[in-house]
Amino acid sequence: MTGRWAPSPTGEFHVGNLRTALLAWLFARSGSAELLWRFEDLDGAVREDFYNYQLRDFQRIGLDWDGEIFRQSERLHLYRDAIEDLQRQGLTYRCWCTRREIREATVAPHAHLPEGAYSGKCRQLTARETSENERSGRNPALRVISGGQLIKIDDRQLGNFEGSVDDFVLCRGDLTPSYNLAVVIDDADMGVTEVVRGDDLLPTTPRQIYLFDLLGLNPPSYAHVPLVLTQSGDRLAKRDGAVTLDDRLALGESELDVLNHLLSSLQLRNIESLGELDQIARDFDPGALPTSPWVFGL
Ligand code: GLU
Repeated sequence: MTGRWAPSPTGEFHVGNLRTALLAWLFARSGSAELLWRFEDLDGAVREDFYNYQLRDFQRIGLDWDGEIFRQSERLHLYRDAIEDLQRQGLTYRCWCTRREIREATVAPHAHLPEGAYSGKCRQLTARETSENERSGRNPALRVISGGQLIKIDDRQLGNFEGSVDDFVLCRGDLTPSYNLAVVIDDADMGVTEVVRGDDLLPTTPRQIYLFDLLGLNPPSYAHVPLVLTQSGDRLAKRDGAVTLDDRLALGESELDVLNHLLSSLQLRNIESLGELDQIARDFDPGALPTSPWVFGL
């Protein structure tokens, strides 16, 4: 078994991120699995200092990882090879739609399709429309042909989930590989067998499983865990107040206090020192985790 923690270095972790990190660690360590660390840093909002902040805070609450630290920005050749492979198989098409056109042309809300699902407009372009687009000077994105396939997932936390796959982006117009493409290539290449991540990513999972399939790769198992909410029911964000580890330390709490707070939120017992976390992992039972989101009281 191999797990992974795959944050985007676009900010300091808040308690919600740390809680998901703790869960990824607990799932891995309870099954004596390795936990790999991968920075998903293909996003424009990445900042160099956040890499170290994130590694530091992960360690400060007693978590660790195995082996080298991966950065997607150093693995572009792998994504390019996969994209070329899919192109060669005739499974892709170019899309010139602007963000606005995509918004306007999204398919009608449908229980099985992810929000913002693409309508497939550019799949049906005439030769004339294609050459007009080519002359426009705009760089096309590359999309996968999905056929609207329905994918079933047996999520370890959420149970059964069904979702359709749209013609999602593989490579953006600026030649950056998409999140879904990079995640699939990396999870396969790094030998990941279990993905633990926030349930905001559940709707993207059918797309990823579809891609594993197209590339002849085995998908991992999935455990999507509820995100942390504010008292008003919104997803917790940095602007909500004292939510990072540094913020909590500045209020006089210790690293152990923060960890115990996270453990309590998972209905796990509190500990006297960070060293006892291994025992928590040994006793960890995913089936006993709370199923409702944690509302963070500031
Ligand atoms: N990089 C994503 C994030 O920080 C996580 C992606 C994943 O776990 O698949 O939200």
